[in-house]
Amino acid sequence: MLSVICLKQKSFWGLMKSLTNKASLLTRQTSLQYVKGVGPKIAELFAKRDLWTVDDLLRYYPRVYEDRKAAAQIAGLKPNELVSLRANIVQVQTLNLGRTNRKIYDIAIRDSSGQIHCKFFRAPYRGYFERFKPFQEIRVVGKPLLYRGKLEFHHPDLKDVLENEDEEDSIIPIYTEIENLTSAKIRKIIQTILNELPDSSWSESLPQSIVQKYDLLSNQEAIRLVHTPPAGQGEQLMKYESPAQLRLIFEEFFWFELLMAIRHFNFKSGQAMRVLVPNNFIDQVKNSLPFELTNAQKRVLGEVFVDIAKTQPMSRLVQGDVGSGKTMVAFLAALANVQGGYQVALMAPTEILAEQHFKNAVNVLGPHGVRVGYLSGSSSLGHRKELLPKLESGQVDLIIGTHALIEDEVKFGKLSLVIIDEQHRFGVRQRGRLKSKGIDPHFLIMTATPIPRTLALTVYGDLEVSVIDELPKGRSPILTKVTSEAKRPQVMGFIKDHVTQGRQAYIVYPLVDESEKIDLKNALEEYQKIQSLFPTIKVGLLHGRMKSEEKEQVMTAFRQNQVQILVSTTVIEVGVDVPNATIMMIEHAERFGLSQLHQLRGRVGRGSHKSFCILMPGYALSEEGKYRLSVMESTTDGFKVAEADLELRGPGEFLGSKQSGDIGFKLASLTRDVTLLTKAREAAFDLIRSDPRLQKPENHRASEYLKNKQNVAELAQIG
Ligand code: ADP
Ligand code: MG
Repeated sequence: MLSVICLKQKSFWGLMKSLTNKASLLTRQTSLQYVKGVGPKIAELFAKRDLWTVDDLLRYYPRVYEDRKAAAQIAGLKPNELVSLRANIVQVQTLNLGRTNRKIYDIAIRDSSGQIHCKFFRAPYRGYFERFKPFQEIRVVGKPLLYRGKLEFHHPDLKDVLENEDEEDSIIPIYTEIENLTSAKIRKIIQTILNELPDSSWSESLPQSIVQKYDLLSNQEAIRLVHTPPAGQGEQLMKYESPAQLRLIFEEFFWFELLMAIRHFNFKSGQAMRVLVPNNFIDQVKNSLPFELTNAQKRVLGEVFVDIAKTQPMSRLVQGDVGSGKTMVAFLAALANVQGGYQVALMAPTEILAEQHFKNAVNVLGPHGVRVGYLSGSSSLGHRKELLPKLESGQVDLIIGTHALIEDEVKFGKLSLVIIDEQHRFGVRQRGRLKSKGIDPHFLIMTATPIPRTLALTVYGDLEVSVIDELPKGRSPILTKVTSEAKRPQVMGFIKDHVTQGRQAYIVYPLVDESEKIDLKNALEEYQKIQSLFPTIKVGLLHGRMKSEEKEQVMTAFRQNQVQILVSTTVIEVGVDVPNATIMMIEHAERFGLSQLHQLRGRVGRGSHKSFCILMPGYALSEEGKYRLSVMESTTDGFKVAEADLELRGPGEFLGSKQSGDIGFKLASLTRDVTLLTKAREAAFDLIRSDPRLQKPENHRASEYLKNKQNVAELAQIG
């Protein structure tokens, strides 16, 4: 739809161009190729970055600014402070990383005060490094960071000094180059546009009331200033705190939060069953539980019970570190609903996990008279035939399973609550789906990974969040150790000792077979090796290509301690709970992301025995990989791990899209601009509260604007 409109627009402007003088007609929708100094070739380059119109290019913001008046000296650099400086290249090196074909590019530079290295883990584009030669004078803009006691730049911005030598201004905006289109050239084109664009083509995109309330620059002024920074704002600009940047960042957050607000009120507008839970519910059940609930578990249950007593559907997310006991919270919430006369569905991401929940639920809730059912993709036709009618007639109270639970053939008699374990994004989507079928249950969503508060605001922007911030009593912290190939015999001895003392161990591999020509350990091969290494110990194997019955057999054997060492691929990652397992050894640990490592580690430390996580890196260990492993060694706190992960990978990974740019954040940063995010969120929620469908005339432009924000809208739907 959108692309059709664009095409029409382009051909329309093509026609106009041939008829009239283009300069006098420049608008924000003009196709870039008709801008003075652009032409088809450069337009093609812009198109590669998805820049088509004048407006697109105006929102191609400078990556950094170079403040010539405040040039830094290498000797005076401090970690994590954005600086610009001039220096000469000493040496350009390409280093191969281990046996992989990955490379590090290392450019050593010096000025009169000292020397520093600029490292790149990938080339910005092909041929980039060929431009740099020893003795060449360059400008460097970037943030030095402390690595192994030494400062170095990672991915700084490098420019040949000669490129913009004629500049007289003191603050130069620097744009990310587009192939051989230099920053200076891009800047020139943008300046042409700013000079030629008539005032009449600008209009304020944000509602005027918000511009006033939050004391923002107009968008015209902000865009002009961000490309033409006034002298004296160098420091502000470097910190993204100039008025122009603040306004543009606010706006990016605002649109995103507006969608969150719309979704929030939309879900809240539904009609759910009121489930009244007696005050003494927890006291009544507590004697039948295998352990005493933690205060955090009780508190979260209390929050749930308040929510489900309302006709507004609950949308609550429970964040809790691995092992904090989310399952019991889910079970007791389910029990309360069943005792209120309703049905509950509990959905897990994998069959292993769904089966585990099913068995647990039968044990814990069965004695309370809860009739528990199970359904997964591999459930037989016969089983379905028996189960589905019971579900519809209300003879099954709690149904546990995988995605299969929301297939169309599954109908519920009186579903009041849906619980989603370890898969929040999925949960949000299902809620939309069920709602469209006319079912509007309460939703309780358990997260797979704790995430930093700032990000939670965005990712779960439309949900209420409960946090289980306490681990059950009697857990001793997991000791994490990065080891090496040379120490393998000792590691194996260590595992053997613990197993002989009655404990169990996981050994996890990244892949199941050598589908890539990388020297990855093959879980299968390794399984045989380990079994022959420990002939008296029973070793099991678990991987994704096994049939679900096979998987279940292995898991059951492991749970019952008939198998002591489980060699597994990452199918084990989420949620599996075997408290007697105390060792988690991860092979090629550097191949896993931080949150995945944390999830894996969370499989141990679930009982009272001391637990260990052993990280065995492969030979090809990148700098970043080393850093990840060192984070794992330094903390067991999931929130801290998540923060480090956010800094390493950026928020895109958390949001499920590769780049946060995908959701329209060009300037805004979820790590840096928290205050603005909070303000924008407040503004958006206030606006929707007062005008839920954006029907008031003053909000008309906002509603139009929103319709064009396709990708943001999509993300908001998917969550
Ligand atoms: P997660 O939050 O990672 O899903 P689980 O719900 O799997 O954690 O719980 C981890 C382990 O802790 C399980 O073996 C569970 O039985 C146990 N557990 C949960 N709550 C408590 C508690 N209050 N006291 C003691 N053990 C608990
Ligand atoms: Mg769990």
